[in-house]
Amino acid sequence: MDVILNSCPFCGTEAPPGAEFCPHCGKKLKTEKPSTSVSKQVLIYLVSFLLPPLGLVWTFKYLKQDDIKSKRIGWISIILTLAGIVITIFVMNDILSGLNNYLNSQLNSTIQLY
Ligand SMILES: [Zn+2]
Repeated sequence: MDVILNSCPFCGTEAPPGAEFCPHCGKKLKTEKPSTSVSKQVLIYLVSFLLPPLGLVWTFKYLKQDDIKSKRIGWISIILTLAGIVITIFVMNDILSGLNNYLNSQLNSTIQLY
């Protein structure tokens, strides 16, 4: 989380971090744009891909922005999230069927003993 003091766009008063309304004039503070720096992008893409559902928190924040760069980050993050989920399902399937085969062979050899 970035801890940055927001200054009110209407009267210039500094509002505490996370404040939704200006303490001076009471107007709603504009939420700051999420960062589009390369390091932030790499972080988002990695989280989206490796920890699938978590990246979506960022994805929606970026998709809500007006500029194309932020939207593009959001879409790439969605695609990576989907790819991550598909790969996770395949890997889990593989592990489960491997486990299943192992248990079956154990079971069979146990049965054959008696
Ligand atoms: Zn204000």
